[in-house]
Amino acid sequence: MAGHKKNRCSFCGRPEDEVKLLITGLDGYICDSCVKQAGEILNEALAAQNKAKASNLNLEELPKPTEIKAFLDQYVIGQDDAKRFLSVSVYNHYKRLAQKDSGDDVEIEKSNIIMVGSTGTGKTLLARTIAKLLKVPFTIVDATVLTEAGYVGEDIESILTRLLQVADYNVPEAEKGIVFIDEIDKIARKGDNPSITRDVSGEGVQQGLLKLLEGSIVNVPPQGGRKHPDQKMIPVNTKNILFICGGAFDGIEKKIAQRLNTHVVGYSAARNTTTIDKNNMMQYIAPQDLKSFGLIPEIIGRMPVLTYLNPLDRQALRSILTEPKNSIIKQYIKLFEMDGVELTFENDVLEYIVDKAVEFKLGARGLRSIVETIMMDVMFEIPSSKQTAYVVTLEYAQKQLDKANVAKLQNA
Ligand code: ADP
Repeated sequence: MAGHKKNRCSFCGRPEDEVKLLITGLDGYICDSCVKQAGEILNEALAAQNKAKASNLNLEELPKPTEIKAFLDQYVIGQDDAKRFLSVSVYNHYKRLAQKDSGDDVEIEKSNIIMVGSTGTGKTLLARTIAKLLKVPFTIVDATVLTEAGYVGEDIESILTRLLQVADYNVPEAEKGIVFIDEIDKIARKGDNPSITRDVSGEGVQQGLLKLLEGSIVNVPPQGGRKHPDQKMIPVNTKNILFICGGAFDGIEKKIAQRLNTHVVGYSAARNTTTIDKNNMMQYIAPQDLKSFGLIPEIIGRMPVLTYLNPLDRQALRSILTEPKNSIIKQYIKLFEMDGVELTFENDVLEYIVDKAVEFKLGARGLRSIVETIMMDVMFEIPSSKQTAYVVTLEYAQKQLDKANVAKLQNA
């Protein structure tokens, strides 16, 4: 083939018969291995750029605590104390990340948070909502799956796997993140029974968690789950990772009451007791109650911000039904809108739904199952009807709920 000049990769110079594939451009060629290499260079460069961007958190541009709270208000009803604590903690977290070495030895330390409140009062909702406006990686993990190393379940370090994943395995990014640990009460020491069987999900796990909370370099399994010998670990420094813990701490009200009672002795006590609101003991929660519940003092010490969520009363449930930006009722209206049907609820129906949620002791979670039960038949029929409007009447709602199996609702 005299005269035929071989095409070569314009980057490495290799001829086409020495490479797997040569891609033709306007004035040149590129081979498969140069494409790959260029890809790697590109990824590294972009990661470096992201890192530079991320490390420049500009305090001026970040939402202030009042703005964070206003955002939470759009989605979460009530729980003002918890919202304020969360907003301030998140803002302080930003400040800590933005702090420059000013040479004055004042280093802002992190303040992990613990939120206590009965199930279904909005702990997870708060965490999910705040995640929407965070400028740092954020993840929610469940403490129930955690066990001590060597037992069936997940290692403590796997808490950080999810954070690494949301940060695209960019370690410096993950090291600034926020982790919400749900159901933290599930790792409390169970009773005063340290012997016989080992407390698999108790104190040992708390000791492990302590390491993460206080800030240390932890080897994280990149794929999560259990560590195994062949897996390459990623070291992550938890010094700047903010931990927000939430738990229902069922029965902690009794411990609070006990403590308050034992304190109410003496002359001034009588006056104090009259101001105790027995329907909402949670508001008096103090660190020693967490200790009586079974958290070790070291863990409690590492979560200096303790806040609580109020039980939801009738008024709150009524607001939850219609007021949040994506309230249940708004969601149904939208569902019907997509079929070209204008949906309205008679006011009595909304009151009735709340009454039922209270009666069945279903809390906010129950609202959805009640609405679902009421609407099921309409949702089945209306898309194939010619109707353009539908009004849910009290009579209809009552009929649908009476028909439904109440036991099923209560399990919801
Ligand atoms: P938990 O406190 O057990 O984490 P969740 O946050 O998961 O409770 O709440 C369950 C559901 O109840 C939420 O998805 C939301 O629909 C509703 N809900 C609970 N509390 C509130 C609240 N304060 N404001 C608005 N909705 C709420």
